[in-house]
Amino acid sequence: MRQRIECGRRPCRWTGTLSITKRRNDGGMMTAICPRCGCASFYDLPEPIITERVEHVNALIKIIASHGRKFFDHKGDLATMELDRRGKVWFVDEYTKARIYTHYSRRWSGFNHGGTLRGLVEAMRDYITKGEKLPIGWIAPTRCNPDNGDIWGYGKESAAVVREEAAKLPIFEQGGEI
Ligand SMILES: [Zn+2]
Repeated sequence: MRQRIECGRRPCRWTGTLSITKRRNDGGMMTAICPRCGCASFYDLPEPIITERVEHVNALIKIIASHGRKFFDHKGDLATMELDRRGKVWFVDEYTKARIYTHYSRRWSGFNHGGTLRGLVEAMRDYITKGEKLPIGWIAPTRCNPDNGDIWGYGKESAAVVREEAAKLPIFEQGGEI
């Protein structure tokens, strides 16, 4: 059985399954060790709740991860967003594997991106919880002077492709300029 677990150390919150944790022999007893912080206590994690809007957001992450600098992709592992039973949204980081509470207003421990992508994750969170749509201009945003390229550094062609593919998802306001 594939049991989802989460590291018990609050600042770590590494998320994975028991089968991919490291093991340590503690006096004849094999103990699972968190690959991120090395502690040995875990919580069982219930399966996330999948709604249509959660699926749209994860489809958008996949599009962003497939082009340009491949944000949200780490060696084939993609970041994911999920909803819990209380209606709260979590972001599982592709690099640190930390499960981040997206409603937290201070620094996100384990988030390996900067403020621009945090803003996007927060906008995706509001789409999941409230259905608030995003302007397409949030995807690979163009600088004030378009000759200077896009803020993500995806490059002109990749930025155009990622915007065009993303615009097909119902996450975005219709009628916006691509
Ligand atoms: Zn840990």
